[in-house]
Amino acid sequence: MGNMDSAELMTPVDVIVVGSGIAGLFLAHRCASAGLKVALVTKKAISTSSTNWAQGGIAGVLNPNDSGALATHVTDTIASGAGLCNEEVVHSVVAEAADRIRDLEKHGVRFDKGEDGEYDKAREGGHSDRRILHSKDATGAEIERALTKRAKDEMDSDFSINENWMAIDLILREYGNPSAGICGIWCLSPAGNVHTLPARAIVLATGGAGHLHRATTNPAIATGDGVGMAYRAGADIKDMEFIQFHPTSLAISDTKPFLITEAMRGHGAILMTKSNYSDWKITDEGANPENFSYMKDYSPLGSLGTRDIVARATDTELKRSGDRNVILVTEHLDATDLRHHFPMIANHLSSHGISLGPDPIPVVPAAHYMVGGIAVDEIGRALVNGVKMSGLYAIGEVACTGLHGANRLASNSLLET
Ligand SMILES: Cc1cc2nc3c(=O)[nH]c(=O)nc-3n(C[C@H](O)[C@H](O)[C@H](O)COP(=O)(O)OP(=O)(O)OC[C@H]3O[C@@H](n4cnc5c(N)ncnc54)[C@H](O)[C@@H]3O)c2cc1C
Repeated sequence: MGNMDSAELMTPVDVIVVGSGIAGLFLAHRCASAGLKVALVTKKAISTSSTNWAQGGIAGVLNPNDSGALATHVTDTIASGAGLCNEEVVHSVVAEAADRIRDLEKHGVRFDKGEDGEYDKAREGGHSDRRILHSKDATGAEIERALTKRAKDEMDSDFSINENWMAIDLILREYGNPSAGICGIWCLSPAGNVHTLPARAIVLATGGAGHLHRATTNPAIATGDGVGMAYRAGADIKDMEFIQFHPTSLAISDTKPFLITEAMRGHGAILMTKSNYSDWKITDEGANPENFSYMKDYSPLGSLGTRDIVARATDTELKRSGDRNVILVTEHLDATDLRHHFPMIANHLSSHGISLGPDPIPVVPAAHYMVGGIAVDEIGRALVNGVKMSGLYAIGEVACTGLHGANRLASNSLLET
């Protein structure tokens, strides 16, 4: 880590929060409400985040007394994590889900409800039950909208939001001694000057690292900055070998990454190879498309297997066939109903000449979620050689809490943050 002697000194704060996705915004607001002096630092416009792109929703059991439903959420999370989850963390996150979802609603987030006033719960891969709250197919944008508004409403002399400011490194309290902790950050102003921002606590909420991969579903901000800064400062980094690949990223060359949410498979869409699709098309009308999907050979849940299994199966099939993509089939489903549930995706596909419902959708796996990250304890404190590192915290996708084990269960990320 360099020693940036010429950096301009800024007024010290109690807490620096780096990042303005769900994790950063939620925490910054909490700290400001508790009377702390907070500086939120975010490298692009406030809403530029993976959170803003999240589609499917947030998983959670809303009745804290429904022990059966809580138990299956725990079991599904552990099964998806391939046995490597920290079970204590899983139990605590699942148990707290109802309260945290209500917190989001108090911040103004609106989840879809049916005509009966009950939540319209969706299902995604690896879930044995319908437990995903959503806001059509743009849940993250709804969360980001509400949290951004709330944060901007609360801005004052003790709560600053610094857009287009990029954190570049953590400042060690004692040069060369990570165990002495962190006392601030160096950051780059929009004008390109380095500034020193001192603080009692620094919270990294910088999201994932999808752009380390050629094909990703992530926005351009996902470049692993938080892990890089923490690593350079000597913090423990964990499980970076676990990168989740999402099976259904839209496969149209030369376009920006675009995800087709797993909720569409929860709604009945089926994955097929091109050859599966041809076989299905020449059979009698009404033949069950699931019987033609390669996924029946890989998972008892078929196209709704967990992401690791579906992505690996798809990769195997693509290597075997030499095809560039597989196909997500929706033509056996009611097109009007599909467009009602997935309006954002329908519009996006339509801009590429694909009609949701009648047309096959070309998809491939793409890097989606950083399962590992900065090792933290149960309250988000970063560790150095397994011991608390004073002054440094990590939350959201950049943190490795052990909730996800080797593979995150769909819609458990927004919940964790
Ligand atoms: C297309 C897509 C769909 C998804 N769908 C779902 C879903 O349905 N359900 C679910 O649970 N999860 C979903 N996920 C995952 C989920 O959205 C993310 O894991 C979660 O939103 C991460 O939140 P975060 O606050 O940790 O990070 P982010 O929302 O990514 O925010 C990171 C912030 O840090 C800032 N930042 C980064 N580096 C720096 C730096 N050096 N200096 C200053 N600021 C910096 C960024 O600009 C950004 O504001 C999806 C992800 C994607 C990409």
